[in-house]
Amino acid sequence: MTQYKNLIAGEWVAGASEADNINPSDTNDIIGRASHASAAQVSDAIAAARAALPKWNAGTSQLRSDLLAAIANELFARKEELGELLAREEGKTRAEAIGEVGRAANIFRFFSSEVVRIRGEKLASVRPGIDVEITRDPVGVVGIITPWNFPIAIPAWKIAPALAFGNTVVFKPSELTPGTAHALAEVIHRAGVPAGVFNLVLGTGAVVGDALLSGVDAITFTGSVKTGNQIVRRATERMIRVQAEMGGKNPLVVLDDANLDVAVGCALDGSFFQTGQRCTASSRLVVTEGIHDRFVDALATRLAQINIGPALKAGTQVGPVVDRRQLEQDLRYIDIGSSEGASVRVKGELLKRETPGHYLSPTLFTDTTNQMRINREEVFGPVAAVIRVKDYDEALAVANDTSFGLSAGICTTSQKYARHFQQHAEAGLTMLNLATAGLDYHVPFGGRKGSSYGPREQGTYAIDFYTIVKTSYLSV
Ligand code: NAD
Repeated sequence: MTQYKNLIAGEWVAGASEADNINPSDTNDIIGRASHASAAQVSDAIAAARAALPKWNAGTSQLRSDLLAAIANELFARKEELGELLAREEGKTRAEAIGEVGRAANIFRFFSSEVVRIRGEKLASVRPGIDVEITRDPVGVVGIITPWNFPIAIPAWKIAPALAFGNTVVFKPSELTPGTAHALAEVIHRAGVPAGVFNLVLGTGAVVGDALLSGVDAITFTGSVKTGNQIVRRATERMIRVQAEMGGKNPLVVLDDANLDVAVGCALDGSFFQTGQRCTASSRLVVTEGIHDRFVDALATRLAQINIGPALKAGTQVGPVVDRRQLEQDLRYIDIGSSEGASVRVKGELLKRETPGHYLSPTLFTDTTNQMRINREEVFGPVAAVIRVKDYDEALAVANDTSFGLSAGICTTSQKYARHFQQHAEAGLTMLNLATAGLDYHVPFGGRKGSSYGPREQGTYAIDFYTIVKTSYLSV
């Protein structure tokens, strides 16, 4: 059985307790055993990261660039093998998982060139004989806390810029995906990243996450709204820099003039693929009257054809739900929707497959209002609700009537509505005639309102979180 240890100060160390890593496609399959760090070991990791900071900072940008490129190269080379591990422990399909490893590799490659593009500025002072230089310093020791649903891409989009811009890292992955995190840590270690610059601590939020928050200089978090709010509060109490990307209740607006096939494809992919376990999932389908019935009929037909099964089985389009707790949450929301008076057009059911896993078929609610809990709270499963509206104006109002603001999509052939929606949707990402699945790795990502706190992640914008601007006055 594979043992996943912690990487602290360049050494692989056993933790204080152990937890099984269970395959959601086959709950009899124990993939490995994670050794959970104690709070004291988290403090050791933070101390190691702090001790490694001066030397890492003083090192050349060429060294950092080479190391990130070496990590990217190994991820590219082992895309299939790591993708299979990811699919086995998280439950997304083999193709999606391999795609995610490729995305992580591209992120490391992108930041390997960003390292040498850290820009400064020189300005003339308003006073004679003085120059003003604006440069960027690293923030220091960065704590990274990530969820299970993108267990290699999300860590990559935090670790790569943190290291690129001269910070050191203590990384705490989700307790549900320790295998992928451990494999990534091995790749980073093998690339030759110096001891202490990158540390891995496995374990729960309550123990490891909590200990991390008390010692780092900055914290970057992706996960649920509830945890994100706690982390932001803790971080602001300590006056440390914090970034939190959280959940969504994302609208997909379908207008009368939409291409029906495109709209159904967007809903299918955006709401149900990857078991709906995406922060950008389009869980509210806001549909105008003229297309409503045709859209619902066509979507229901396509939902009945989805092939749900083990993540690694050929032909599977949608794998299992990640674990029992998430499955219970999905089932609870299916009951809540029914008890709130929504019509159940397609009812989600537990499915039996060749192996015992958390298989749940899609649920499509219709005749829902935007005030129902199923339209206000994130379910994070294969559950979507249709809200019928009169026209574009009502659709936009409903789309924006939410405490979240991560993504918002529209299906229309009207340039006028498309442009208006792009400008007025209260979301960090907007999509025109596209599903919210499949985002580029070199552009900024993040939400608004309750979905996001702090500066944007990814692309050239990442530098704002991982560096501190310094203004220097020089008498020349
Ligand atoms: P979660 O909030 O339960 O856990 C996320 C991470 O926080 C885990 O590593 C967990 O161990 C840790 N954690 C939990 N409690 C903690 C505490 N008190 N202190 C410190 N750390 C703690 O989320 P999850 O179930 O792993 O992931 C699903 C959620 O993530 C969904 O809400 C989804 O929308 C969100 N998500 C958001 C994005 C985005 O970029 N906006 C991307 C993917 C997932």
